[in-house]
Amino acid sequence: MTGSIPIKTPEEIEAMREGGAILKETLDEMGKAVRPGISTYELDQLAEEIITSHSGAKPGFKGYRGFPGTLCVSVNDEVVHGIPSPDRILQDGDIIGIDCGVLYKDLYTDACRTFLVGDVDPDIQHFVKTTKKALNQAVKVVKPGNTIGDISAVIQKTIEQQGYSPVVECTGHGVGKNLHEPPEILNVGQKGTGPTIKPGMVLAIEPIANMGSGQVVTADDRWTVLSADGSPSAHFEHTVLVTESGCEVIV
Ligand code: MG
Ligand code: MG
Repeated sequence: MTGSIPIKTPEEIEAMREGGAILKETLDEMGKAVRPGISTYELDQLAEEIITSHSGAKPGFKGYRGFPGTLCVSVNDEVVHGIPSPDRILQDGDIIGIDCGVLYKDLYTDACRTFLVGDVDPDIQHFVKTTKKALNQAVKVVKPGNTIGDISAVIQKTIEQQGYSPVVECTGHGVGKNLHEPPEILNVGQKGTGPTIKPGMVLAIEPIANMGSGQVVTADDRWTVLSADGSPSAHFEHTVLVTESGCEVIV
């Protein structure tokens, strides 16, 4: 992902807000549907129904580089890109990252939340909350004049302060006409480095952390990324518009 960082037109921004609202609705419904006993395939079907119930909206991930699902579903030690399956039944105590994209009026939005399934170990809950906090802290530094490295630095600090590990291989990105556009937004980095943030940029910021080491491996399905040590992994993502004075969370 090299090249200049696209600046969105007012029309593109409005379309992304509309697409983002569809994606927000989808993730809100996922939060209600996640429970012990449901399969990741059922979640995927539900998400696709919700997205396609809106005229002109399509799942953003389905078919992208051949990915088969509407959702990337990553359970426990799965980090990203898990494939929905009728055989993968959620169990009490699991955590699940649900990452989803919407394509609307030729523009993508991209967001992820990690949900608790039933009664989750308090230490794992704290880990999930910390990863969510990393996203919230990162959004606070998105404003014109700051840099992409400022985002990376706050993510790394928030996660490492609690003894967890950011996953270096998985990065945020610009989003718009393409699902992945410049800039690459690492989950580790130095303040004051990288491109300067400007109004009209739209960034998908996505802290991804492992409870143990940050090392990852790819499963035999060639999609699912797993923590190398089997420790739980969490992922939160917002699509964020840079405004004149700060930013607006699109989804
Ligand atoms: Mg995503
Ligand atoms: Mg993304």
